[in-house]
Amino acid sequence: MSVATIIDGKAVAARVRGEVAAGVSALVAETGAPPGLATVLVGEDPASAIYIANKQKASAEVGIEGRDHRLAADVSQDEVAELLGSLNEDPAVSGILLQLPVPAHLDGDALTALIDPGKDVDGLTPLSAGALAQGRPGLRPCTPSGVIELLDAYDVSLEGAEAVVVGRSLLVGRPLVFLLLERNATVTVCHSRTRELPAVCARADVLVAAVGSPRLLGADAVRPGAAVIDVGINRLEDGLVGDVDFEAASQRAGLITPVPGGVGPMTIACLLRNTLQAARAAHAAARVPGIGS
Ligand code: NAD
Repeated sequence: MSVATIIDGKAVAARVRGEVAAGVSALVAETGAPPGLATVLVGEDPASAIYIANKQKASAEVGIEGRDHRLAADVSQDEVAELLGSLNEDPAVSGILLQLPVPAHLDGDALTALIDPGKDVDGLTPLSAGALAQGRPGLRPCTPSGVIELLDAYDVSLEGAEAVVVGRSLLVGRPLVFLLLERNATVTVCHSRTRELPAVCARADVLVAAVGSPRLLGADAVRPGAAVIDVGINRLEDGLVGDVDFEAASQRAGLITPVPGGVGPMTIACLLRNTLQAARAAHAAARVPGIGS
């Protein structure tokens, strides 16, 4: 029997997508042009191809114009760089997403860094990461933004709260630390060398797991009544599981995300929202003489 409230990520994501669709309609009414999202996929990794297809489909559903660029697995660094450069220059492209990982002969970090920060809808360029770290405006990474959106949707107070983030990746854990700090949480970051992980986690009012280790965190890592957000997606023979032992943790948590159906749907919803934000900013800049002209 579960005592925790289960966070419905699909419902929150549907609400965000609805807001984006309304924002896109308003922008089209004002400017005549929809936001454009260019995705770039190098090679034929089946999982990446599914992610790209999902992102393109979700874009179309909210009125964002998708451009699906596919490059051969043996493409050169220069060729990918050239495509990114042309997308940076193209006014019909509001957002650029380079699907990672890229094949081993390419330098994904260097390619990501070429994306215009104004079009960096994944929020992963060094400039976007720096803006976040310094608390300046910019496009924020999608999965961590989705975590904050879920906490807000369920009225979890972050001001002064003890937040523990497990995982320090550039994609999830690290940007989430800054988003939580921005909201005045007291943040502890755990990682592979953290000692006494369950005891540190058990201090948390808000516990976020972003590790990629099936059911790493059990009931002993959960403070009674805590909000538990499980970013992990691990494929086991019995299906998808998170980094939190859901059955055990939900006996103690106040709120908990399921896997699937928790954070996952939020990532694409936040990507769409970032694309709208980028399109609005580009439009506003184009209207100011001397900027964007
Ligand atoms: P990553 O491999 O880049 O980083 C994992 C982090 O976990 C590292 O910082 C590492 O220090 C830490 N870690 C590893 N073992 C640990 C341990 N035993 N104890 C404590 N910390 C440990 O992974 P990532 O890209 O941040 O992704 C994390 C998980 O989130 C994965 O399962 C991934 O599939 C999932 N993910 C989900 C979404 C989504 O949309 N829901 C998006 C991105 C990632």
